[in-house]
Amino acid sequence: MAKIQPGDVISHTEMCLEEMVSLQRGMNFRLKNSCSVILMSLRKGAPYADRVEDNGEVLIYEGHDVPKNLAQIPKAIDLPFYTPKGTLTQNGKFFETAERFKEGFQKPELVKVYEKIKDGIWVYNGVFELVDAWIEESDNRNVFKFKLQITDQTVDQKEKRKTELKDLDHNRMIPTSVKLEVWKRDKGRCVQCGRTDNLHFDHILPYSKGGTSLKAENIQLLCARHNFQKRDSII
Ligand SMILES: [Zn+2]
Repeated sequence: MAKIQPGDVISHTEMCLEEMVSLQRGMNFRLKNSCSVILMSLRKGAPYADRVEDNGEVLIYEGHDVPKNLAQIPKAIDLPFYTPKGTLTQNGKFFETAERFKEGFQKPELVKVYEKIKDGIWVYNGVFELVDAWIEESDNRNVFKFKLQITDQTVDQKEKRKTELKDLDHNRMIPTSVKLEVWKRDKGRCVQCGRTDNLHFDHILPYSKGGTSLKAENIQLLCARHNFQKRDSII
């Protein structure tokens, strides 16, 4: 399988194969064979209030509730920083690493972001830097918020080496509403050949040539083959 690229459409299984772990929870601090991974969803009725800012460059991600087995109504109590055993929760781990970055002790944590756009359909949104974390009041309780900034770095999973992406189109996250509109318009198929597997959200006019990520008119679904053909013809 070719290396996964931002904008790629994948199944939950493919996502787990990419990370070499069964991804069950939304926040995953420093996976064994990779960097940190978060799963997001901006769909209506999604459990957390994640949002995208600054033309797709910034993601504000909400921390996660106590597990259902530890509280009758998880949404009614403050988000936990510690587990009952006194170790850091995922909230606590991400929060502490953001604090360490802000105090100058480490580089920003690199976080890969996957987004669920429909049941069984996920999109890889790229690598982000965790640059800030804070606590705010929401519905009479305290929640953690994490600010993630999209980066042109990519993470080599085996060597944890960072390389620069050549393709500037990967520097913008396509908003969820645009992804959903394009998916519906193109009927979940490559616009060139009609294939329904290995799909990718493609910028028709590349971002580097002035194209936008924010309008469905400039985004289309392409299969891997037609995406690579197009990229080769541009370069
Ligand atoms: Zn195709």
